[in-house]
Amino acid sequence: MWDWNTLFIEGQDISAENAATLDVISPANGKIVGRVGAASAQDVDRAVVAARCAFESGPWPAMSGAQRGALLLKLAELVEREAQALGDMDAHSIGRPAIETQMLDLPNAIATFRYYAGWADKLEGRVVPTAGYFGRQTHSFVTREPVGVIGMIVPWNTPLMILAWKLAPALAVGCTCVIKPAEQTPFSALRLAQLVREAGFPDGVVNVVPGLGGIAGSALSEHPDVDKISFTGSPETGAVIMRAATGNFKRVALELGGKSPQILCEDADLDAAVQGCAMGLFFNQGQVCAAGTRILVHRSLVARFTEAFAAAAGAVTVGDPTSGQVQMGSLAGKGQFERVDRYVQGGLAAGARMVTGGAFAQDQGYFYRPTVFDSVTDDMAIVSEEIFGPVGCIIPFDSDEEAIARANGTKYGLAATLWTKDVSRALGLAKQVRAGAVSVNGWATIDPALPWGGFKTSGIGRELGISGIEACTEEKVTTLVL
Ligand code: ADP
Repeated sequence: MWDWNTLFIEGQDISAENAATLDVISPANGKIVGRVGAASAQDVDRAVVAARCAFESGPWPAMSGAQRGALLLKLAELVEREAQALGDMDAHSIGRPAIETQMLDLPNAIATFRYYAGWADKLEGRVVPTAGYFGRQTHSFVTREPVGVIGMIVPWNTPLMILAWKLAPALAVGCTCVIKPAEQTPFSALRLAQLVREAGFPDGVVNVVPGLGGIAGSALSEHPDVDKISFTGSPETGAVIMRAATGNFKRVALELGGKSPQILCEDADLDAAVQGCAMGLFFNQGQVCAAGTRILVHRSLVARFTEAFAAAAGAVTVGDPTSGQVQMGSLAGKGQFERVDRYVQGGLAAGARMVTGGAFAQDQGYFYRPTVFDSVTDDMAIVSEEIFGPVGCIIPFDSDEEAIARANGTKYGLAATLWTKDVSRALGLAKQVRAGAVSVNGWATIDPALPWGGFKTSGIGRELGISGIEACTEEKVTTLVL
């Protein structure tokens, strides 16, 4: 049990106001996983003051990019040293098999810190030719400066990885931050902050305020001294945060939901597509914003694909995530379970056919089997709305035009996958899909060097890649009249 009872402000592990705490309960067995401090609005204010002071004065603003890069490399090394423990914290808190965090979350987070360490001393500007000023010549140049104090509001599904996407570029360019981890997964953020201290970052550069979204998250997104909010989570909460940010016109970056298509053309490698679709739908119990939940299959392949996919789904072992014997653990909590089951029951009531799946009875825990529907129509909620669980639909199509129309027939636009052996067809279809990331013959091919974010209601802005640097900086023009 991680019995910590603290927040992390100005380099210190400190108690919240009135020693308030928050319990984290495992959704897999109902046992307490640990306890952290629960920040009040007052605590959030203390953290923002610390971040503001660290941004304005002290050693941080005076540091060179090369020095910040060296600190980020050191942090990557420390995260690598603690990878097992950090991954276990996140896995146990939401009932995931720990192997998943070691396969994806931790390697990706470490690579992200290393990637942005490389950017820290490469923030170059540019000289722009101009027409002059009332007959006198001018010399103008554009530089990038840190946006300031960034509030980072993080979800529970892949917490450390998503936190690294926000934190690494912010530190590379010289911002400071206040992190609000999700109620379910506060431990890895607090431990990461201790590693930030151990790496040698100045106090106040990174602060962590665990607590309730409606209190700590809300205080952070409303705070007048926060320059930017970077949020990943549900569209409903994203809308609340965007409204709260208007008080001082904070910059807002939102990574929200998805209803991502996987398109299987008639020339697809069927075995690879079955495996890829299973990973795209069931990884992390389907609680992934880029989950490939709408599987569009060319009619000539539907019968074979459905049989093979149902077999792959049925072969996934579900149960105690700590046993080391299962591929899928529990959903993240009661609310998640009820949400997923409501969609599944709604799908059945609307006339869809459940090929395989359904709730998985255990004495305790919120387990759900990999669930696949066919005989669906586009107006069913299971086809049009984000479920955030291991539930997908098989949808036949007859032509590439129809596949694209149906793939784009959603309010979301985060990711898409194409399965085809024909390069021209792949590029032609990729161009037409309205999504931030298109993968061909592989699902959600993320990399720290590639921008990540959504079209349409999947969000605003991009993380990762050079876009992550741009998102943490403001452009400044300086003109000399000669
Ligand atoms: P979920 O409903 O699955 O918990 P959310 O999008 O609500 O997903 O949560 C993502 C993050 O947003 C969490 O850190 C949560 O505490 C935070 N959050 C929730 N409500 C608010 C709010 N009103 N203002 C700011 N942050 C919030």
